[in-house]
Amino acid sequence: MGSFKWVPLLLNLCMLLSSKLILSDPFLNKQGLADIPSKFLNLAKRPEIHEYMVNIRRALHENPELGFEEFDTSKLIRNELDKMGIPYKYPIAVTGVVGYIGSGNPPFVAIRADMDALSMQEAVEWEHKSRVPGKMHACGHDAHVAMLLGAAKMLQEHRNDLEGTIMLVFQPAEEGGGGAKKMRDAGILANVDAIFGLHVSTLFPIGVVATRPGPVLAGSGFFEAIISGKGGHAAIPQHTIDPILASSNIIVSLQHLVSREADPLDSQVVTVAKFQGGHAFNVIPDSVTIGGTFRAFSKESFIQLKQRIEEVITLQAGVQRCNATINFDPDEKLFYPVTVNDKDLHEHFQNVAGHMLGKENIKEVTPTMGSEDFSFFTETIPGYFYFVGMVNETQGRLESGHSPYFRVNEDVLPYGAALHASLASTYLLDYHSQMPKQKASFHDEL
Ligand SMILES: [Zn+2]
Ligand SMILES: [Zn+2]
Repeated sequence: MGSFKWVPLLLNLCMLLSSKLILSDPFLNKQGLADIPSKFLNLAKRPEIHEYMVNIRRALHENPELGFEEFDTSKLIRNELDKMGIPYKYPIAVTGVVGYIGSGNPPFVAIRADMDALSMQEAVEWEHKSRVPGKMHACGHDAHVAMLLGAAKMLQEHRNDLEGTIMLVFQPAEEGGGGAKKMRDAGILANVDAIFGLHVSTLFPIGVVATRPGPVLAGSGFFEAIISGKGGHAAIPQHTIDPILASSNIIVSLQHLVSREADPLDSQVVTVAKFQGGHAFNVIPDSVTIGGTFRAFSKESFIQLKQRIEEVITLQAGVQRCNATINFDPDEKLFYPVTVNDKDLHEHFQNVAGHMLGKENIKEVTPTMGSEDFSFFTETIPGYFYFVGMVNETQGRLESGHSPYFRVNEDVLPYGAALHASLASTYLLDYHSQMPKQKASFHDEL
């Protein structure tokens, strides 16, 4: 009789233990590290997550906002974070938002999206075309925000599995405003171990990612110079100091910086894209304004180029008796550093993307002379920037970014969201596996 009473008790205990066992097999766990990327991709492709991102992206596409004016965009992001119960800091750098998922304690890892649009008129006719004349999301930053919110939604569901904190960085003004610099200078990277950023690409197929370790995008700077002489009658040149001739020689001399002074294996660019001076056929003007951009793949080459541009303009102007003043900050344009991918994070990326997409779908991208303000982050902490392909030839050709015909293939959204979520969560899980086993006695308490 006495032992009979024990049977239901034992059964209850077994049920309790088995439910404990189910609970102790979380979505994110160290033992199943290799499965996490494909689990996130499957989750992100589920209609409720995919459609959520499509709706966000279309809402943003209809209402594009320029750098540091992303007020509605920022508000939409904060509303979504509120709905998910994700705490955040706002405002940072005018419209920037940083959300926090996880324990709130170190280690911290960040994933980033840019929010701004371009001042251009959309030429694509579709249901969700830009409703703001002269403004368009023509670089895919609407998709970047949607992907980061999609990742946030998935990660927040599994926040209790995270040992550490994932930071969601929504930054303003990537397109020339240096929003990343302002976010960095506001201190958002304090205690952050690594940051990941992505860009949609019209060069690679859907399901393919492209990247490389080391420098991936160039550092860029701008210059503007005023070449001053003495205007006068075009038929009496001996009474003038001709700034048009001086500027022409300056432009030719500037071309020798890359062709004669730079290492041919160290890619650099100097382009004069602006030449303004003179209004009449028979008048030599007082002054000419020239301007352009310069690019390089290392900080040293960049500094050297800047110094030589200044010297060549000043000295060459002097050859023709002109004076020159040079401004390296025209229209408050910032120097963008070189975007450098950290070598350890490259290994981490190869593992995560390899498990999600297969190693054959990770392509090496050729470095380009374009630039990204993500570089302000990689200048400060280890960072990693990669491209996510969205080409599906059955859906027609995709025009490149900054084209008025630019389109996003929305099938890319789950890939970006899953990569964000996987890179950050496995980074934290991996991080702890390399830490001393402080919690070895944890299971004894059960
Ligand atoms: Zn762009
Ligand atoms: Zn962009």
